[in-house]
Amino acid sequence: MYQLIIIGAGPAGITAGIYAKRYGIKYLVIGQNTGGAINEAHIIDNYPGFKSITGPELTKKFEKHLDTPIKKEQVEKITKKKDVFKIITDKDKYQAKAVILSLGMKIRKLGIKNEEKFLEKGISYYTPHDLESVKDKIIAIVGGGDSALTAAIKTSDQAKGVYLIHRRDEFRGAPALVKKVKQKTNIKIVYSGQVLEAKGKTKLEKIVLNTDQELKVSNLFLEIGGVPNVQLCSDLKLSMDNNFVITDKKQATSLAGFFAAGDITNNPLKQIVTAAAEGAIATTSAYVYIKQNF
Ligand code: NAP
Repeated sequence: MYQLIIIGAGPAGITAGIYAKRYGIKYLVIGQNTGGAINEAHIIDNYPGFKSITGPELTKKFEKHLDTPIKKEQVEKITKKKDVFKIITDKDKYQAKAVILSLGMKIRKLGIKNEEKFLEKGISYYTPHDLESVKDKIIAIVGGGDSALTAAIKTSDQAKGVYLIHRRDEFRGAPALVKKVKQKTNIKIVYSGQVLEAKGKTKLEKIVLNTDQELKVSNLFLEIGGVPNVQLCSDLKLSMDNNFVITDKKQATSLAGFFAAGDITNNPLKQIVTAAAEGAIATTSAYVYIKQNF
């Protein structure tokens, strides 16, 4: 039996693992996607110690720091009987005295006509790291948060033109990024814009907006945030807030011995630095819980 099992290997889960090692407890990190959402980040410029680093580079550094193999398994079910958690994956079964859930978020789909038809044929949920594919092209990005803004800045270096389509007239993302976007002469911001449909023969050729305007684009990147990966929570009957796991200041959930950290929680700021901090707090709280209850 493990003392602590950490489910999810993004910044929160990896930091939780680093702290578990520090406390000398028997632990396991299970996660199919090491690094989580940061793997898709082009440039991270707000994590202390790194003025500018790509997501995949930071993931490598996190993994190296953890220095413990991560079980690349899919967790299918978590149950609690008496004081013991049972975790069933697609490959194995585990038991633990405490659990940290740090599964982050999955992509949100836009739900427009032909979204599935042109998926990876012009429509994508992530902008590519290698921007050769957008070189000299006219592309569109949907979203108004940090992801959409950074994607617009990055792609505008290679693309001929970038439409940044946001559903409101004010961006949600950081003002510094908005300023950079506005300085780029080949980014055209479409405020209060909604994409209704994608058109093309075998690949994306045009998008139709709510204004009935049709834009000729070769690529449409949907950078509209995510939805928390909470499917494992329903059996545990955790207290939730709008589909996010409610945690207190110790990252404890409504179930004793079960902690949550990172983007899956209802904490308002969803950044790498806060996810890492929540991972550290969650393990510290789990360590105290184990000492007091076993
Ligand atoms: P986000 O902050 O949740 O923003 C999502 C954006 O998509 C919002 O502007 C939202 O519009 C829009 N949106 C959502 N659903 C939509 C729909 N159905 N149709 C049209 N637009 C829709 O997501 P994010 O930008 O991916 O960022 C997620 C988190 O990661 C944030 O905490 C962000 O700060 C962080 N992040 C940080 C960095 C960085 O610091 N370098 C980079 C990327 C992400 P509304 O504004 O109207 O709600």
